[in-house]
Amino acid sequence: MRLAAHGISYSYVPGRPVLRGVSVELAAGEVLFLLGPNGSGKTTLLECLAGLRRPGAGRVLLGDADLHRLSPRDRARRIAYVPQVHRPVFGYSVLEVVLMGRAPHLGTFAAPGREDREVAREALEAVGLLGHAHRRYTELSGGEMRLVLIARGLAQGATFLLLDEPDTHLDPRHQHRVLTLVRDLTARGLGALVTSHSPNNALHYPDRVVLLSAGRVCAQGAPEEVLTPPRLRETYGMEFVLLVGGNGHRALVPAQGRSSSSAPTGSESGADSRYLRERADSLLAARKGR
Ligand code: ADP
Repeated sequence: MRLAAHGISYSYVPGRPVLRGVSVELAAGEVLFLLGPNGSGKTTLLECLAGLRRPGAGRVLLGDADLHRLSPRDRARRIAYVPQVHRPVFGYSVLEVVLMGRAPHLGTFAAPGREDREVAREALEAVGLLGHAHRRYTELSGGEMRLVLIARGLAQGATFLLLDEPDTHLDPRHQHRVLTLVRDLTARGLGALVTSHSPNNALHYPDRVVLLSAGRVCAQGAPEEVLTPPRLRETYGMEFVLLVGGNGHRALVPAQGRSSSSAPTGSESGADSRYLRERADSLLAARKGR
């Protein structure tokens, strides 16, 4: 089973496409990372793949079926969208938040039954939070909230998980916990598409990486083939160095110098960073003078 975008374009404002002919395939059983600068179209692409937005051109296919021909309920049974952390107004319990994932399986106005509770509890167990089932969701840490949202996606019974920046604002241990869980789930047959701002997580966890720049796919393939310093310079407008340890572990670290010539629109240009440095220097000088 595959979830695939074929040449999709999307515009919020007519004549200003934020996705331009994007083709991406996600297979059941794989982790695919989607990287790109802020504003490059990652969330929009995720929402098109989830069926939440309809592309102006191109098609999204789930297996052989056109995603937009399926009912919202059928889509939700196959694809779970895991947003960045959301803070509900009401003090739902952890179990209640996970039970919300059962909505596509319930009849209109029907309340979740014993079986739904069992599925929700199994999903919480899979993310290691069954012990927190009766705590208030809003009282959890950011990392635990993300795990609960993943559990909600699992309770949905979907084959594909689309996760929007699950590694943002988490300490390294929690990032590892969340991304290892995602890997384990794909080993059980799920497919996961993960947006991220971390080239190092993208080197480490996925099977494949897609690099998006200004609404176009500029590279896709195995992490070590896609995440090269020259390509990252082109995409992010800054220099990286690839370090390879004796054990074969790789890490991408920012180099000292910055490229100012190829900074893409919306990123900090060389002139901006010079300006910020000068501002910081003058503030420090003003403090010292007090
Ligand atoms: P990313 O996730 O890579 O940061 P997004 O998909 O959120 O990128 O945004 C891509 C572009 O679309 C950006 O220029 C953003 O400002 C614009 N955009 C996103 N959401 C909306 C919206 N609801 N209305 C108008 N423009 C939007």
